[in-house]
Amino acid sequence: MTDLPSRYGWTDIMKRLTVISSLNSSGSIDATTLDRLLSRASVEDLHALFELLIDGQGGDLERHPWPRILAWTLTCPNEIRMSLVSNIEGRSSPMHRLRLWLDGYTERFDIDEYAALLVEAEQEEQFTFVRRLFKNAAEGKRQVSPSDLKVLLGYGAGRSSLGRLDPSLEIALTIVADQAHGFVMERHVGEVLMRHFAVESSTDYKVVGLFDECAGRAVAWGYDTDDNISRKAKPKELFFCEGRKAAVLDKEYERSFWWCRNKPCFMPSRSCKPVEEWRGYTVVDMLSILGRSWSDEEYQLFLGGLNRLNALLARLNCRSCGHMMRPQDQSNFAFYRATKFKCVNDACAEKALVYLNRCWQSKCLSVIDSRDSKACSNGMYICSVCNGCCSSKVFERRLGAIRTVGQAVPDGLMQLVVANAGHAETQEYFCHACGGPVKVVSDDYRKTLEWLKGHCRKHPSVKDGGQRSDGGWWFKLDVPPEKYVSLKKLGFQLVKDKRFNTPLVAEPWSSDKGSVGSCMNNKCRMHRVPRYGPKAVFIE
Ligand SMILES: [Zn+2]
Ligand SMILES: [Zn+2]
Ligand SMILES: [Zn+2]
Ligand SMILES: [Zn+2]
Ligand SMILES: [Zn+2]
Ligand SMILES: [Zn+2]
Repeated sequence: MTDLPSRYGWTDIMKRLTVISSLNSSGSIDATTLDRLLSRASVEDLHALFELLIDGQGGDLERHPWPRILAWTLTCPNEIRMSLVSNIEGRSSPMHRLRLWLDGYTERFDIDEYAALLVEAEQEEQFTFVRRLFKNAAEGKRQVSPSDLKVLLGYGAGRSSLGRLDPSLEIALTIVADQAHGFVMERHVGEVLMRHFAVESSTDYKVVGLFDECAGRAVAWGYDTDDNISRKAKPKELFFCEGRKAAVLDKEYERSFWWCRNKPCFMPSRSCKPVEEWRGYTVVDMLSILGRSWSDEEYQLFLGGLNRLNALLARLNCRSCGHMMRPQDQSNFAFYRATKFKCVNDACAEKALVYLNRCWQSKCLSVIDSRDSKACSNGMYICSVCNGCCSSKVFERRLGAIRTVGQAVPDGLMQLVVANAGHAETQEYFCHACGGPVKVVSDDYRKTLEWLKGHCRKHPSVKDGGQRSDGGWWFKLDVPPEKYVSLKKLGFQLVKDKRFNTPLVAEPWSSDKGSVGSCMNNKCRMHRVPRYGPKAVFIE
């Protein structure tokens, strides 16, 4: 439509538009045409156009071109916009009215009407609803009262036949409504999840949304300004920021830092947001808008609990009946700290105890599931990710903890400590599938290592070398590029060093050694030909 008629031919335009929208089965009008038509219309024209469009589409407001027309009303002078929107609102279904509010077109708000509808809305819409509610409160447009929260929480799991509040949203609202008690995993999370997932799979669910996510580890490049900070990837399996403030300043730049998974981070991801960033509001913004106070330390511990919980949720269902297992030796709602679980469904025959534990290796922290893992000779379940199982240090720590609280020390634990029997220290690794030994490094790897050690600074190709603090060797070589590739295939790591233009060749870190292994039992499903090349690399 290049020969666009003037606004005086408006009746013709509308006729044509009606024809277009009724002819096109998707009800769509091409966007440029619509914009050009709209820009020439008077208010009366627009109202007339709306009538026609509604008739043309059988009154279906969810369909195109309504979103476009709505977006366009935002560019109109206020009075015209309000008149158009209220025209649309008057014709809308209740759900569409709620969406008009969610998208910011209307200010009309009725908590009772909307709360009942909200349970049918998408998860994202539910989050937006609560965030917009608090945005309005932050702008002083409308107070959020405890009774509002009560109305919303009235629609939690199973309380409405039409749908439910998202569990994460329910958790956040429960915390805000009950802030007198702080952040309590059992009361604010365990009870909610148990209600939602008692008879339904939690496998694909993660607590998300209204809690502060880790934005990545912050590294500092200089003294105390935000410009000297950049974000790197966040630690594995970490959703929420759990950085704990260090009691001292960083030595290099004399600035505050936080411990996050055993490494420093120079800026935690927990802070309140200005109202312009309301779409990212979390539970602490909600508390702050209501004028409540909270402890950041308690919040940090709580987020750490949620991280552990998210890793567990995928494994909390009974594999026989699908119901959520209950913690044993712990309160019903303490799944985040329990390690023993059991199905409590009377109709289910599966009554075996299931152990869910985090791998103690700080580089791994995967969930070890007794249904998938065999135990090592010390009775500890083997991690399916890193092949680690037990450590004398961990046994000693446990013994210390038991003595501190004055409980009786189990005989087995005492023997393990006395025998110094931990497998991490002896560098023995086992297969989680069959319990058999895992070959950590190939003979060829070992032969090559011995050759390098024997020729260090003696052979012209081995310029330099030495041992790291963990005992692993490193070498500075002068060899053709293809040798580096072979050495890497064999299991060595190549470490960049700014001083040289070729990498250093080093042994893997001791905590990574488990991951270079392969189950030696050829009947086991984990049995694989070793990843590393079949031939030793000799350098001459
Ligand atoms: Zn973090
Ligand atoms: Zn951080
Ligand atoms: Zn069961
Ligand atoms: Zn592990
Ligand atoms: Zn072990
Ligand atoms: Zn195996």
